[in-house]
Amino acid sequence: MHEPRSAAAMGAGFPYQLKTMCYIEVGRDGSITWGSDLDAYERARAGESQLYAVWPGEWSSHLFVIDDLDAYARGMGLVHDAERSGLADHEHDVQWAISPYEPNPQASYVAIYVRLDCGCVLRDLYAFAAQMRARKAGTSPSAGDSAPRVAVTACAPVVRALSRPRRTVSEWR
Ligand SMILES: [Zn+2]
Repeated sequence: MHEPRSAAAMGAGFPYQLKTMCYIEVGRDGSITWGSDLDAYERARAGESQLYAVWPGEWSSHLFVIDDLDAYARGMGLVHDAERSGLADHEHDVQWAISPYEPNPQASYVAIYVRLDCGCVLRDLYAFAAQMRARKAGTSPSAGDSAPRVAVTACAPVVRALSRPRRTVSEWR
């Protein structure tokens, strides 16, 4: 038999949000439940339970102990993590424009290019989408700039966060 491995020891390499990760909560009374909701995190924080994670592999799966709840909270997106996401917790200086490859620029939801002029980098589109949703930062379509752009055409959450129905785009300017 093996001891569970340490999730904390893997640092940022532990994929907390992996969809196939199975989280197990063992209560002080020995009760066992699985899943990962905020309540479980709070119980673990309060010392009422211990969280584990089964990380499925192709040929075998491994059991990890969630031994750094701060890392867990950052990894799960429960708290913002500037280092992991590349995004400072501030009002980003965002330039955006509708993608020239957008097949239907008149649609309610369109693909856009986003550029951050504040020095942040887009490592975590979900974190970015959450920030933008929370702040609804004022942005403006950019034109003719040469800085590298980030295509977000594949990221539905960001597209949802940033592309509004056309009639309300002016509110973002
Ligand atoms: Zn920024």
